[in-house]
Amino acid sequence: MVLMNDCVSGQGQEFDLDALLVALDGAVDDAVIADPDSMTPFTRDWTGRFGGPAVAVVRPSTTSQVSAAIKVCAKFGVAVLTQGGNTGLVGGSVPASTTSDSVVNEKPTVILSTTRLVSEQPVDQSAQTVLVGSGVTVARLQQLAADSGLYYGVDLASRDSATIGGTVATNAGGIRVCAYGMTRTKIRGLEAVLANGDVVSSMRGLPKDNTGYDLNALLCGSEGTLAVITQVLLQLDSPPGKTMAVLLGVDGLDQAHELFRKVGQDLRVLAAEVFDRQGAAQVCSLADLSWPLRDNDAPYLMLLEWESNDTIDDLDWLSADADAVVASNPSDSARLWTYRERQSEAAQGLPDRAAGEELIKLDVSLPFAGLGAFDTALRAMIAPEKLIIFGHIGDGNLHIEIAAPLSEVDDVTHMVLEEVGIRGGSISGEHGVGRAKAKYLGLSRSAQELTAMKAIKNAMDPEGLLAPGIILQ
Ligand SMILES: Cc1cc2nc3c(=O)[nH]c(=O)nc-3n(C[C@H](O)[C@H](O)[C@H](O)COP(=O)(O)OP(=O)(O)OC[C@H]3O[C@@H](n4cnc5c(N)ncnc54)[C@H](O)[C@@H]3O)c2cc1C
Repeated sequence: MVLMNDCVSGQGQEFDLDALLVALDGAVDDAVIADPDSMTPFTRDWTGRFGGPAVAVVRPSTTSQVSAAIKVCAKFGVAVLTQGGNTGLVGGSVPASTTSDSVVNEKPTVILSTTRLVSEQPVDQSAQTVLVGSGVTVARLQQLAADSGLYYGVDLASRDSATIGGTVATNAGGIRVCAYGMTRTKIRGLEAVLANGDVVSSMRGLPKDNTGYDLNALLCGSEGTLAVITQVLLQLDSPPGKTMAVLLGVDGLDQAHELFRKVGQDLRVLAAEVFDRQGAAQVCSLADLSWPLRDNDAPYLMLLEWESNDTIDDLDWLSADADAVVASNPSDSARLWTYRERQSEAAQGLPDRAAGEELIKLDVSLPFAGLGAFDTALRAMIAPEKLIIFGHIGDGNLHIEIAAPLSEVDDVTHMVLEEVGIRGGSISGEHGVGRAKAKYLGLSRSAQELTAMKAIKNAMDPEGLLAPGIILQ
């Protein structure tokens, strides 16, 4: 660890940085990074759009070390920003920028990385649950489940880095929600450290437990603002049987949703995804793939996956001359999924950065009946070459990627999210609010709801120590 003979301003008062670092060292058994270069991977997010300075990164390996680190931060009046895999897309996993973020964090920040909280208990076969540390990745958990003949139903393209704690803190969705539900539905128990260092733990794992407020449900989706999640007891599912997938062209979002609904009447749909022609073309050039369909005039491509023992000949809902590619084995299916799973990555290339453009990443959900009309309204607002839309059509959840000059980012974001609010949608379907959407929260939540949320935050974190500026400004 590098010690700096420096004083740092916190809440208008100066404090001794050396003393803080020594105390943190003691709390987490020397697992402190304070050298600015070594902190870089922790201070900038996946999108490259968000990030700011931290005074240190602490990497506790036990719950008691998390508690001790939080108590040190409270004593010195510095903020604690919890970070898992740093794959979040709303600027919530990194400190605020001192220059460009509209949310000003007065307190210096310590990043608490959970990536060493990787304890694993054996899978409980009778309850179909498993207890893991919050730093275990989603991919690792999926492997643990598979090794026991079970299945973890939350899946997302960031699975190799995203952590269980991060997915619980954001109530992550992903590609299997239409079959298995969001992360909140998987939580059977949770351990977390509160802003005063106290540890709360509810690990009974009971399917039924109506003893007062559900703290687990509250902490799920709290994005590090109420507590640091340290361990999670998760519900596993039985694995799906044999699957089939099809990639086909559709006229628009309404047709895609109607197809999902129709196929779902007779079959167990495991995923129903869409991406537009522009996004498909970007992935083809990024991944050096050929155009997957015969024609390229369909505005949207749809990827449907379902449980099936059928053969291609049994697909009576798909006409023989349909412009579609069917996959009935895992390797063909994986090839089809590439077109969908690399959409976020491909969208990073949408803005002309040399011309000062930024990428606006929005994640909205809309009532099913309004998907097509919203798409039409959006396309009337944004030039086609500046827009990519993809998402989880089975959940009415769209990811909207827009390239815009930096000076227009706020106006364009507000214009689109206001349209979502007017149409009865949500400004965050699954990524959370973070810093990026905090100022737009009122478009989806009433003044009374915001007052109740602020009361909860003030009660659980009266000093505003945990993740200031995230969710609530
Ligand atoms: C390519 C790609 C695809 C993605 N696809 C999806 C998708 O389909 N669905 C989806 O929902 N998301 C998706 N995401 C977003 C992201 O992966 C999720 O939000 C994920 O849940 C973040 O997990 P993480 O461990 O990386 O958390 P981080 O990014 O580190 O943190 C996210 C938030 O959670 C808080 N946090 C993290 N760990 C804890 C903890 N232990 N205790 C308390 N707070 C904590 C942080 O403070 C922050 O506010 C995708 C991201 C990428 C890059």
